[in-house]
Amino acid sequence: MTTTTKRAPRAEGQWAVDGTAPLNPNEVFKAADDGLHVRKRIEEIYAKQGFDSIPSDDLHGRMRWWGLYTQRRQGIDGSRTAELTPDQLSDRYFMMRVRLDGGALSTEQIRTLAGISRDFARGTADITDRQNLQFHWITVESVPEIWRRLEDAGMQTIEACGDTPRVILGSPVAGISADEIIDPTPVIAEIVERFIGDESLSNLPRKFKSAITGHPSLDVVHEINDISLVGVVHPELGAGYDLWAGGGLSVAPRLAQRLGAFVTAEQAADVWHAEIRLFRDYGYRRLRNRARLKFLLADWGPQRFREVLENEYLGYRLADGPEPGPSSLPADHIGVHPQKDGLNYVGFAPTVGRVSEDILEALADAADSVGARRIRFTPHQKLLVLDVPPERTDELIASFEKLGLRANPSPFRRATLACTGIEYCKLAFVETKSTAAAVIDTLEQRLADVSLDRPISLHINGCPNSCARIQTADIGLKGQLQKNPDGTEEFAFQVHLGGGLASVDREDAGLGRTVRGLKVTSANMPDYVERVTRSYLAGRKPDE
Ligand code: SF4
Repeated sequence: MTTTTKRAPRAEGQWAVDGTAPLNPNEVFKAADDGLHVRKRIEEIYAKQGFDSIPSDDLHGRMRWWGLYTQRRQGIDGSRTAELTPDQLSDRYFMMRVRLDGGALSTEQIRTLAGISRDFARGTADITDRQNLQFHWITVESVPEIWRRLEDAGMQTIEACGDTPRVILGSPVAGISADEIIDPTPVIAEIVERFIGDESLSNLPRKFKSAITGHPSLDVVHEINDISLVGVVHPELGAGYDLWAGGGLSVAPRLAQRLGAFVTAEQAADVWHAEIRLFRDYGYRRLRNRARLKFLLADWGPQRFREVLENEYLGYRLADGPEPGPSSLPADHIGVHPQKDGLNYVGFAPTVGRVSEDILEALADAADSVGARRIRFTPHQKLLVLDVPPERTDELIASFEKLGLRANPSPFRRATLACTGIEYCKLAFVETKSTAAAVIDTLEQRLADVSLDRPISLHINGCPNSCARIQTADIGLKGQLQKNPDGTEEFAFQVHLGGGLASVDREDAGLGRTVRGLKVTSANMPDYVERVTRSYLAGRKPDE
């Protein structure tokens, strides 16, 4: 008889269990020096001595802690993405991400962003689906002056990328909407004030994404964040938040899970702090592709996760609480809506989030001219103008229409998202933004006869990462390089169908399914989307 010895499971690289010795090259460079320390070197050395003075660990590693990635070298097509090194793929220019917690801006801040775009970014500006603004073509020499302008205007790039607490998504209608359950503005401000830039939280296993809303439209895509606080009313404790954890997309998508815990407004920042420390200490660091919080939550389950959170980090038990009600409200806030103070807010749709120096400047002027001085970006690549007097709302809409920003967009202009794609992203295989814009133009003509009671969402990614959340769209398209049976290669989009978030499209959230073997090219994308739309409309049930 032979006896078999069971091999002990391999350590996952959890600091609290296995110690802090670095187990992969990313952990090595993070242990060698905190990413936040690179700012001093950028200001004192790299901005003065130029691009070639930046060592690799800072260039491809720590500069992300300040929102800086090298952008893709122009002219390298997607067939070479997988074979080239980061150095070979990198241009001597950077993408810079400005974190805008809660997406909240004044028109003066918009003008500052427009000025930076004009003076340092060749007019580029993209609103992201995480309420950030991204510039391209940034030189390292210009970074200190950009930081000076941003910080003078109350904005920052700290921890906009990297293994850090990223921008806090917040309801774009926080504090103004008449039907709000609770205003998350103070909680977001407290987290940013107390914890962003805290060096005890700047070496996480991977990024940590947060979302907070008190609006019944569930407008912050709470199912795909590492932590989400969603407004609910507790029968005894009043308005507060339902706690969710462990959502994330990319190549191993998982929706967040409720922990069944009720968090009061006073507890919210401390609960956030407890969860991020739990992630820092127990998150997996051996393999980078298992380092997001979702893998830990999947292994532990919500009950154990909540117990460790309460017992080891918070020091008290949270009350059990109710789950958020289903949402029937559109979460993108497009169109005209009344505020609780009698003014209006108006949601506009830039095409796939792309704006420019000129558009930013002109939209700030147009908003100011009707006395509206607050702007908010949304997690759906849209923008809102707050505080619009009802009698001047039509005037504002007409001014924005001239800028290509529509308050009543077609269903596809409204519900199409596209990531950065091959234009600037080093990981991309295919072009995305102009492909999406062309598809929208074509579908607006071809489907002019079709009436949709809600938009069909179309999300387009340039690679298997999921920056444009393809698994949560009705139609998700993932760019890849496809090998044909005859050995030739072709750029194509793998199709995912039937995804949706409770907050956007449907009462129950679900991830889209890959339709095996079904791929579309940029050229036949309009045909495909038209076919899916028409056959869905022809065959759907009355309550679908
Ligand atoms: Fe780049 Fe891929 Fe993200 Fe698109 S999905 S921005 S191509 S990493």
